[in-house]
Amino acid sequence: MELDQLFIGNYGDREICLEKGQGVYVQDTDGNKYLDFGAGIAVNSLGYSHPVLVNALKRQADKLWHSSNLYLNQLSCDLAKELISRSFANKVFFCNSGLEANEAALKLARKRGNAINPRKNRIICFTGAFHGRSLFTLSLGGKDEHRNPYGPLPEGITRVAFNDCEALKDAMDDDVCAIILEPIQGEGGVNLASSELLNTARTLCDQHDALLILDEVQSGMGRTGTLFAYKDDAILPDLMTSAKGLGGGFPIGCLLATENAAASFAAGNHGSTFGGNCLAAAVACEVIKIIDDESFLANVSSLGKLLGTRLQTLNEEFHCFKEIRGRGLLWGGQLTGKYNGAKIRDLCRSEGLLILLAGEADVLRFAPPLIISEAQLKDGLDRLDKCLAKCR
Ligand code: PLP
Repeated sequence: MELDQLFIGNYGDREICLEKGQGVYVQDTDGNKYLDFGAGIAVNSLGYSHPVLVNALKRQADKLWHSSNLYLNQLSCDLAKELISRSFANKVFFCNSGLEANEAALKLARKRGNAINPRKNRIICFTGAFHGRSLFTLSLGGKDEHRNPYGPLPEGITRVAFNDCEALKDAMDDDVCAIILEPIQGEGGVNLASSELLNTARTLCDQHDALLILDEVQSGMGRTGTLFAYKDDAILPDLMTSAKGLGGGFPIGCLLATENAAASFAAGNHGSTFGGNCLAAAVACEVIKIIDDESFLANVSSLGKLLGTRLQTLNEEFHCFKEIRGRGLLWGGQLTGKYNGAKIRDLCRSEGLLILLAGEADVLRFAPPLIISEAQLKDGLDRLDKCLAKCR
């Protein structure tokens, strides 16, 4: 698209230019309407133009936009209370994105480790991981091409094969300050951390006085049918990051911490100009209240089962997936060699359906807004069916 020439080329070609959205649909500048199975990469959890969020933003726009972190603001206090009362955490730090939340978590873990013992600063991460694009967070990511051009990279990072508990045990010692992992790897291809991995990581962190950091930037905020994915497993993190769905499309990220972990940051150790912004906090307060509701989350789970079952049915017909994995409204279908992810995505777009790719672009990723109805979900899957038929 010609307009793409305006931008530094880091996003590749963009075929459509979006103008407005309503519910689960977005419309481009040519008037084409799309059913969005990607929710702005798992961000627009409550779809587009949700009236409660729009009103919260408008109300706050008349009062106060920005206050800096030299002062408290009421909205960020309200949001902190909502997050703390609904999670393992006792303390919160607000920022503007997923990578910033992870950067804060990693810095905190390093500072804590170095204070215990000057060698205790190693961080364990996993193959297939994605934690952001800052120099520190990309260094923990699973893709060589995200890391290699940016050397020299931060040191003291050990990458272990995802879900390989023995390798994790081998990599662990008292020099480790943190293990960071996604309960479900989104960008890596919708890979679910086994409950054995989560439990092993928790036990090892306890044994070696390290922090367990769960990156719930993509898996959190109701996406998997619980407010945070960790709630499905009998483990608690020391630190957890959230962003994406938290603001329902308004940029906000946060680091949640136990009292004990949080104690490692004192005044001046970290900060953000915009973190805890009143507008973002006003929207996120409403997002969390809507999502953390028993019937809302039960609906996400049951829609997720429907989506998983329907992907299986498509597979019986087209033999398109090597594996289908997911939970709630985050699913991935790993394509067999015969099928090309980019081709299917483009065909879907011409059928008015936006889908995402993940992994090595060989995984069709489905992360629709959590407010999608059963009929809309079926409609999208019918469109996918049509596109797969063109590829067989
Ligand atoms: N962590 C995870 C698990 C993510 O999926 C992402 C983004 O895709 C990030 C971190 C980075 O978030 P952001 O793009 O908001 O910096």
